[in-house]
Order: sequence, then structure tokens, then C-alpha cells
Amino acid sequence: MCGIVGIYTHQRRDIPEQASLALFAEQHRGQESCGLAWAEDGRIRLLKAMGLVKEVFTSDVLAGLHSHCAVGHVRYPTQGGATLENAQPHLVETLNGPRYALTSNGDLINYATLREELNRNHVYLASRNDGEAMIRLLVHLLEREGMNPVAAIQTLFTQLEGAFSTVFMTPDEMYAFRDPYGFRPMLLGELEDGWAVTSESCAQDILRTTNIREVEPGEILVFRPTGMTSIRTDARFFRGDRRPGTAHCVFELIYFARPDSFQYGKQVYRIRQRIGQTLAGYDDFTPDCVVPVPDSSNFIAQGYSEASGAPYSMGLIRNHYVGRTFIKPVQQFRDESVKQKFNPLAGFFTGKRVVLVDDSIVRGTTLRKLVRMIRSAGAREVHVRIGSPPVKFPCYYGIDTPTYEELIINQISQEQLRIHMEADSLKYLELEDLLGIVENGSQFCAACFDGRYPVGTPIPGKKSQC
Ligand code: AMP
Repeated sequence: MCGIVGIYTHQRRDIPEQASLALFAEQHRGQESCGLAWAEDGRIRLLKAMGLVKEVFTSDVLAGLHSHCAVGHVRYPTQGGATLENAQPHLVETLNGPRYALTSNGDLINYATLREELNRNHVYLASRNDGEAMIRLLVHLLEREGMNPVAAIQTLFTQLEGAFSTVFMTPDEMYAFRDPYGFRPMLLGELEDGWAVTSESCAQDILRTTNIREVEPGEILVFRPTGMTSIRTDARFFRGDRRPGTAHCVFELIYFARPDSFQYGKQVYRIRQRIGQTLAGYDDFTPDCVVPVPDSSNFIAQGYSEASGAPYSMGLIRNHYVGRTFIKPVQQFRDESVKQKFNPLAGFFTGKRVVLVDDSIVRGTTLRKLVRMIRSAGAREVHVRIGSPPVKFPCYYGIDTPTYEELIINQISQEQLRIHMEADSLKYLELEDLLGIVENGSQFCAACFDGRYPVGTPIPGKKSQC
């Protein structure tokens, strides 16, 4: 999972700074590396580094960047992939100097084949990131095959399999396009003097855009000095022989997106509240308190509390300066990070019957630690409620999930898991209820829960590149 931004204006000169603000709003989508590419004097410049947006794009750095157009990225890779070569945007230089930049969110599942095909055409890649394969392919089509950018992007649609919400730029133009399934989010908003494309609406909010809408699955947006045009790619440009239906990632609504964002036209926090209300309906007792695992489960717990009448309590305090525990490469670090990340309020849990709410269980690390922590803090009972169905299948479209074997629910039964985490009870949201809550359930990809992958054959052991 990553976050992207692309801003194109006619006259403004502060666009790198604006793009950095949008990336900052999307920081939750990726914390390992960040980068911006911008147009300057007919060339494209690039600055990317490991680290957080505010660390890399300091006010001193931004003071020196002036452009009418910029694209950017925050990255959230898996183990082994957090290197500068894999960071985005990717820049391709031609004989005329740096000319193209690209940034993308989502994973291609035919990356290995693309890479081989590129190698056969004597195009070699410096990274293991799908975004680089995309830009190399595009530049090959533009420079060696002489295609115009729209034709090159349409050709890309015939060759890429998987998820891509992408922004591509030349020194004069910007292009935004989204895979025909619309796996990963992508929004378009209007500025007084141009347009902004982002992964989330919270980034549009910071840019103060208006008329925000989804970039449609399969749509190509072209931004030029003369204005913006939209091209709806028709079925003949899609890889495969059928026009696919939408397959928006449902996990964005459960966990990834910021609660103040609208994803796929839905208000994220409201979906989470409804998940919590539904979970409360599964229970026939009223706990003494409903405690979220902050922050991702706050609204789920709030919904549970509203529906059950039990008080919502921030009994666990989160240290916001600990990075995401999930992505630590070694289990021992994950265990340690959970301890550093959460601390119970002293005296709060004593004698209480607690409902502890989290959005998902992946490896089971977080909840095992937290249930013990809450028991040690004096709780009488700890009932775990999960705002999603069991995560049983890895994601191949850009969400960082471990391999099939590492998912705890594939190793032990739900009852064994309850015992493992020492909970008094454990309940998950039913898949059917989830699809009802998001409405138009058939337009979502829920492959991590049901194994029904909308496109391609999963590659065993493959992890997200994003
Ligand atoms: P685990 O401790 O391995 O069971 O992971 C579950 C916790 O990680 C939950 O608290 C989620 O909020 C969070 N989580 C779930 N999926 C992801 C993901 N793909 N990336 C980062 N964090 C996640």
C-alpha cells in the first residue's frame, strides 16, 4: 500500500510544496520512503529518500523547489523491499536529459513476465519495483516505438495485469490512469489553476480542491497547457478478453484509508461505525467498556459502543512515534514494537468485562500481546471483536500481507486462536455482513477474505512491491 499525488497547474510555482502537503496527508499509506519529481526548465528533477515526508521535504528543501507540476509517492513495502532503488517516483533519462517520471500505487501480478519482456528488448531495470517496469515500458513505447503518450498508455493497459493507480509526467504534461478494476483508490480534484490527483480525499482537502471525483477504473486523464481531457479506455485495450467489473479493495475501508477520507464515494468512518454496530449485534451481553486498538479501530469500537450502550473507552494509549508494528521484518521486533506502542491506563481495567475491538488479525501478534496486557492490568474478562472476516489469503494487488502460511488463521482454528490469545471469546465480522455494509458488495475485491482473486493467478510466496 502506498500513496500517490500528481498536481498539474498552469501558472503556479509552489507545486512541489503543495505535493509534499498532499503526501503528508497520505503519510499513513507509507512510511518507509517518499519522493517528488517536478518539472523545471524543460527537464524533470527528482528527490527521493528513505524516511517520512516532513523529514525529507523540510521547509529549507522546499524553498528551493519551484514548478507548475509535480508527482509524488509515499511507500510502504514489505520486508527486503525498503530500499532507495525501489522508492518512487521513478525517473527515466533519455539522451535529452531526464524526461519522464512515474509514480504508482498497486501491484502488478505479471511483473516477472514484464521484466523478462523488457530484458528481451534490451531494457534493464535497476530496481525490483513494478513502477519502474511501467515507466521503462512506457518510455520504450514512446521513444523506440514512436507512440504518442495516450497510445502508449493504452498499450500498457493491454500488457499490465493487476492494480495500478498511476501518474506519469513529462516536462510539459501529466497523465493519470487507473487499472480497469479500480483496485486501488484514485481521486481527481480541481484547483483554481489546475488539477490534483491523489490516493485519498484527505489529501484533496489539504489542497483545497473542489469537484472531487473518482478517477474511473480504466480512465486516462491527460493534463496539458490547453486543459484536461478524459479518455475512457474501451475493452479492447484491457488485458484479457473480457471487460472486467470493478474490484475496489474493501480493506481500504476497513483499515487503510484515513477515517476522514471518502473512498470509492463512501465515507470511511461511517463504514467503520456500521461495522462496529454490526459486531455489537452478534453479542447478547453488555460489557463494562468497549476499548479500541487505537487508531485504526476507533470508529469500529465507537459503533459497537453506540449499538450496545456500553461506554467507549480509550483504555489503551498509543505511542504515535512508533512506526507500524506490522511491517517489522522479524517477529521479535514486532513483539517488542507492540509493547512500545500500547500502554494501558493504570487502574482502568480493574475488575472490568472488556470488549476489545481491532480491525483485523493477520499474524495475531498485536492482539495476543494486548489481551495479556489488559488482563495484567486487572480485567475480569476480555472479549475480542474483529471488524473484518479472517484474513486467510495474501493480497497480490498492493496490500502488504504475509504469505498464506504466515496468516495465523491458516495455522490454527478460530477456537485455537482464541485460546492462543487468551481471550474469553473471539468473534469476526461475517463476510456477508461486510459486503452488505459497503453496499454493492460485488464491486469490491475481498480476495484476502474469500480467495476470489479478480485477476490473475496468485504467485505463491510473492509479497507486495507497491
Ligand atoms: P497482526 O498483529 O499480525 O495480527 O496484525 C494485525 C494488526 O495490524 C491490526 O491491528 C491491524 O490494524 C494491522 N494491520 C492489518 N493489516 C495490515 C497491513 N496490511 N499492514 C499494516 N498493518 C496491518
